[in-house]
Amino acid sequence: MTSLGEQVTTETPPDTAAAVSLRGLRKMFGEVAAVDGVDLDLAEGEFFSMLGPSGSGKTTVLRMIAGFEAPTAGRILLGGVDVTERPPYARDVNTVFQDYALFPHMSVQQNVEYGLRVKGVDRRSRRTRALEALETVRLEGFGDRRPSQLSGGQRQRVALARALVNRPKLLLLDEPLGALDLKLRREMQLELKALQRDVGITFVFVTHDQEEALTMSDRIAVFNGGRIEQLAGPAELYEHPASAFVAGFVGTSNLLEGDVASAILGTPGLFTVRPEKIDMHTRTADAVPGSCTATGVVREVVYLGSATQTVVDLDAGGSLIVLQQNQQGSVQDKLALRGAQVRLSWRREHTVEIGGSA
Ligand code: ADP
Ligand code: MG
Repeated sequence: MTSLGEQVTTETPPDTAAAVSLRGLRKMFGEVAAVDGVDLDLAEGEFFSMLGPSGSGKTTVLRMIAGFEAPTAGRILLGGVDVTERPPYARDVNTVFQDYALFPHMSVQQNVEYGLRVKGVDRRSRRTRALEALETVRLEGFGDRRPSQLSGGQRQRVALARALVNRPKLLLLDEPLGALDLKLRREMQLELKALQRDVGITFVFVTHDQEEALTMSDRIAVFNGGRIEQLAGPAELYEHPASAFVAGFVGTSNLLEGDVASAILGTPGLFTVRPEKIDMHTRTADAVPGSCTATGVVREVVYLGSATQTVVDLDAGGSLIVLQQNQQGSVQDKLALRGAQVRLSWRREHTVEIGGSA
């Protein structure tokens, strides 16, 4: 695949040759631990996301994998080979950034060919491979345009083609959809996921958008303060958050803790229940046997189009958010609930102990 002398084997067990392995990775900027001890193994062909708030260390991890930043401590292995001391060009990795960084004075075709030209690939192969890459991102026929003649989404695709043309084993993407508007962003999420499946390249995708991470990823590492707070598949992460931070960052947290948990659930501790699992009834409705129930007063009702979000202040203290699909009932009726006394109920198994075992 490349001329780096790495052996390409087809059937290497994932535990001996993970696409990426990080071992005790740390990065200090002065006194700040931007990355504070990260251990990871990514499987070949995996769509892996690093999700976390701004400043949690995602970009720094990515830059260390690419070789743009040297770790303060720890090792980086690609396909089982320790590349920690290697410069970026000697790693079989490409990076796509949020700001694309296309050359404005070059055509789309020239932009895509650029990396190959630098590597000394001959003209004919360059052309063929660039056309191929443009086809992969569905931009055939756009080769002669300038970047300024493209939409944001098309420019993002050129940036992708420019990375794919090198046929890397690993593609690093740092908030690549961050500059797009919401609708286009959703479209590109699905496209990018499909493209990754087709080309079979391992993707490491950085985002601060939890919905984006849930939509696209095979697995997600949630970052907080330079560490991985939880590493799991999307459903596991959402259904069984390992900490209050994860519960709050991935979805709406809806925490019940301490005395409130004791009053409602009969046991102290830290629990979460997702908003869409909760039913809302009038106060006088009978409690459903076997389910958890809590009474309260509606503080706020927000109409979201397909759903309605209600914030309920609980009599026991604290509050819960309830999300109901707008399948039936009028919007007016729902909005009129503000100030109403209600009873919330949900099935016992939807109360998830945070940090508890699944
Ligand atoms: P994220 O991508 O999750 O937003 P970053 O990896 O960019 O986070 O940053 C992690 C932390 O490291 C932040 O506190 C940031 O200010 C700091 N940081 C990142 N790059 C540098 C740098 N070149 N010099 C000093 N501090 C940096
Ligand atoms: Mg970043």
